[in-house]
Parts: sequence; C-alpha cells; structure tokens
Amino acid sequence: MLTTKSAGNAYDVALENFDAAADALQLDNDTREMIKYPERVLTVTVPVRMDDGHIRRFEAYRVQHSSVRGPAKGGIRYHPQVTLDEVKALATWMTWKCAVVNIPFGGAKGGITCDPKHMSLGELERMTRRYTSAILPLIGPEQDIPAPDVYTNSQTMAWIMDTYSMTKGYPIPGVVTGKPISLGGSLGRNEATGRGVFYTIQSACDHLLMSLKGATVVVQGFGNAGSIAAQLLYEAGAKVIAVSDSTGCVYNPHGLDIHNLMHLKALTGKVAGFPEAESIRPEELLALECDVLIPAALENTIHAENAGAVRARIIAEAANGPLTPAADRILEAKGVFIIPDILCNAGGVTVSYFEWVQDEQHLFWEAQDVYNRLERVMKTSFRDVLKIHEERPAPMRLAANMLGVGRVAEAVKLRGIYP
Ligand code: GLU
Repeated sequence: MLTTKSAGNAYDVALENFDAAADALQLDNDTREMIKYPERVLTVTVPVRMDDGHIRRFEAYRVQHSSVRGPAKGGIRYHPQVTLDEVKALATWMTWKCAVVNIPFGGAKGGITCDPKHMSLGELERMTRRYTSAILPLIGPEQDIPAPDVYTNSQTMAWIMDTYSMTKGYPIPGVVTGKPISLGGSLGRNEATGRGVFYTIQSACDHLLMSLKGATVVVQGFGNAGSIAAQLLYEAGAKVIAVSDSTGCVYNPHGLDIHNLMHLKALTGKVAGFPEAESIRPEELLALECDVLIPAALENTIHAENAGAVRARIIAEAANGPLTPAADRILEAKGVFIIPDILCNAGGVTVSYFEWVQDEQHLFWEAQDVYNRLERVMKTSFRDVLKIHEERPAPMRLAANMLGVGRVAEAVKLRGIYP
C-alpha cells in the first residue's frame, strides 16, 4: 500500500536536518539548546463510546515545538501509524516552515492513533470533542492554533471550534484554522496547500528554464494537497501521467484527465479503476520518467532502497518529510532539483495565517486577494531559499532549513532567556 511508511523514524530525520542547518549557520550551543527540542509535549487518553456501545481508548498527542516567533501552529492528524515521535517531527518542521514563509507563528502538531476510515461520523465527532477537551489548556487563538492534516478536515475543525467555544462560553473562531467558510474560515484555505505547491513548481520551472506547459507530472498521494496540485498543473497545461492513492496507481502516458479523475475520487473515494488509464504498481509509479514528481502522502516514502530508481527532474514535496536523508543524498548526486517540504507545502499554513488574521479582525477577504497574497508569499520564500542555495551553495533542503532555523535563532537571541 502506498501510504505505508518505511520503518525510518521521522523525528531522527527532523533532528538530523536541524543539526545540519545549525552547523551550516555556525549556531552556538546555547541557541541550539533553546530551539532544537519541543517546548511542551502532551500525551492524552481519549476514551470514546463506539456505536456498538463499548468504550474504546485512543492515544493522542499535542506537541508545541516552538512559540519563539508567535503562537504555536500546526495541524492534527488522524492515522493508524501516528506515534509521539512522528508528531514531534511534524511539530518541529512546522516551526521552520512558518519561519521560512515568515509568518508570525511557532510550530506545533497533534495526532490521534486511530483508523478514521473505519469509524462512523458519530464516533469521529465524539473522539474529536473528547480530544479537544483533553488538550484544551494548551490551545487558544493566542497560544496554539490547530488545523487540518492527514484525514482531518473542515468538519473536524468545526467540532474543535464548537467544543472550545462552549467551554469558554462564547464563539472563538480563531482557535482553529481550516474551518468551514460559514464559521469564519477563509476562502482559498481548502486548496491552499496544493496551490502553494503549484506556485513553487512554477518558480522551480522558471529557475530551471523549463516550460510547465507539456511538462510530465507524477503525483503520489491524491488527498487534499496532491489532488489540488494535480488539478492546477493540469489546468496550466502540464501532462499528469500518473497518480496514486492508498487504493492503487493509475497511469496514462498521454496524460490523465484530472477533472474526471477527481470526479471518480469524489464518487468512490478511490483512483483505482479509473477507466482512462492502466493500473501500475507503487514502485513503478515512483520510477516513471517525468519532469515533476510530487510525493503527497506520508513521511519516508522515498528512501535509500527506492531513491535510485527515481527519474524526475524536480521533486516537489507536498507531503511532510517524504524523503529520508539517504534519499536526499542519492537524489542530490543525480542532480534532481528538490523543493523541500517546509517551503513547498507551506501554502496551507500561510492561508491558515490569513484565516487567523481575518478572524481576529472580523473582516473577510475575497478569494482573489487570498490567491494573490499566497502567490506573493510562496514566490518570495522560494527566492529567499534559492538565494542561499546558490550563494552558499547548499542543497535546497539545507538552504530552507538554514533560512527557517536562522530566523528562529535570531528571534530567540532577541528574547533572551526567562527568568
Ligand atoms: N497540516 C498543514 C501542514 O502540515 C497545515 C498546518 C496549519 O495550517 O496550521 O502544514
């Protein structure tokens, strides 16, 4: 199954990425001690009355990695493979990600180890509300602001917003982002991650003097980020030749009609069985010759064993942590241009920031304003990372981490240590 991760530990990867950036920036030890590790880690038990009447216990987490540059910020993931180390890794990456796009947030992440595909809507609602009340002392619009991640969505955010608001006694939309529009959500938030991925691919093509029109694209993972990125690339004239989700991989060398594929996915929840394509195996999909490969599922999907087979010119990391450090080295040696996750997929949290700003001001923007501002943020951040990549020179991932870690280091030095 494609969404299955290899055995690597994402938190080890996050720490290794940090050390590389800190070394390159020649950060002193005091600063490293202050910013490397999570500020707060909360593990909670979430008991839920299941539809058949029995009570089931779920293990859940909220990790605040940093509040140096602003309130902690990051999504909540529901997945059978969620572990505390994974959540710590994802929270750490959120800190550098928010700093790379220069929005005034720190980093956080939450997760519940559960299998949402086999739970009813009622069970999901009860689990979400109980989890919210368990992490309630940590969250708030000025403290820590959750958002959607893998297998959570605007409905999940609506339940969190309601639970939090009922406890406080008045509506507080700014406690979460990625809410439904009718509850104070932002236009363009739902598509923001995929749209941000699209803008960074445009920037990479400009930099490499490649045309997006006719460029061949492979998308691994057809959830929120992967499907929207595929749609925007398709509409811009790129040829999306293969797409996968946890049910299978579909391939057509002449290009897939992404609108039809999205329609099928909406109807059946799967890409498997798409009539205008042939079915291939996951390892074949990753090895297809293409201009742009978009890993848009989970961590560690491209690793030492399969990186050698990749034949892409650009890898755009819509997922968090899809490449292991070993894969990085192999692909770097092959000259693949990598748009690292903390830059590539930062469109989601960027529009989360816009949503939070709109909630705080009770003043809402038009969709085109959101798109224009997002494009500006993504393309400016791409240029900032590219500058370090070229001037130092450093691989794109190291360059992005240097930018993110460097900004947090600067902020912590200004704040000093309390007491
Ligand atoms: N879950 C998304 C991410 O990994 C969005 C987080 C947010 O909007 O806070 O970047």
